[in-house]
Amino acid sequence: MDVVDFLVIGAGISGASAAYELAAAGETWLLEAEDQPGYHSTGRSAALYTANFGTPLVRSINAAGFDFFTNPPEGFTDIPLVTPRGALTLAKPGHEAALAALIAQSSPAHPIVALSHAEAVAKAPMIRPETFTAAAFEAGVLDMDVDALHQAYLRGFKRRGGQICCTARVTGLARVAACGSSRRAVRRLARGQLSMPPGLGAMFWARWRERHRRG
Ligand SMILES: Cc1cc2nc3c(=O)[nH]c(=O)nc-3n(C[C@H](O)[C@H](O)[C@H](O)COP(=O)(O)OP(=O)(O)OC[C@H]3O[C@@H](n4cnc5c(N)ncnc54)[C@H](O)[C@@H]3O)c2cc1C
Repeated sequence: MDVVDFLVIGAGISGASAAYELAAAGETWLLEAEDQPGYHSTGRSAALYTANFGTPLVRSINAAGFDFFTNPPEGFTDIPLVTPRGALTLAKPGHEAALAALIAQSSPAHPIVALSHAEAVAKAPMIRPETFTAAAFEAGVLDMDVDALHQAYLRGFKRRGGQICCTARVTGLARVAACGSSRRAVRRLARGQLSMPPGLGAMFWARWRERHRRG
């Protein structure tokens, strides 16, 4: 049984990016239940960046990511992670107040501005004019290349010495007494010679371990 500094569970965009950062600080393994990373939400995203989405905390996280996406670190990726898109939002009759609130809450750095009926139709001529009563446009919305971002994190993680283990669904977590003898404790735990008392340290076990036991 190996003992590592950091275990990250799940190799979607959250896990891949966290593992990339952690690998700079210590030995890190990234455990993924599926046979490849990006199988779930990350592979299904509509891939739109907006600063004006979510709770105040989420909005501040969105804003904090802007510089990284538009100006990633040297060597992180060869292709742009984001490209300009813009987003038009239309209000059906009765939804004008919700649209006004969206405009009022938008960030000054990435404003959402009201459009006239004619301006909205000019932007999207395929829309039937009678279906909406108010419109707004956010020029700062970007298309994200989620695959490029995800792969860049995974490549960077491996470059930093990280190890990705696929088909490795984590099925349990427990604290074990470490106190300077964590390797021995973990081995005994793996052999079923030790129950799991609360204490220092942490260990995982996964189906992967059963398939790839390292002695
Ligand atoms: C239809 C759709 C459209 C979206 N559009 C946008 C958008 O336009 N813009 C935007 O910013 N966001 C969008 N999102 C949200 C965004 O895709 C998600 O917030 C993001 O991908 C979540 O990433 P994640 O890594 O947290 O989760 P996931 O990508 O789901 O990754 C979690 C990983 O953990 C693994 N896992 C789970 N349990 C275990 C276990 N026990 N052991 C090991 N591995 C495990 C899973 O197999 C999975 O690979 C959209 C999402 C969807 C579904």
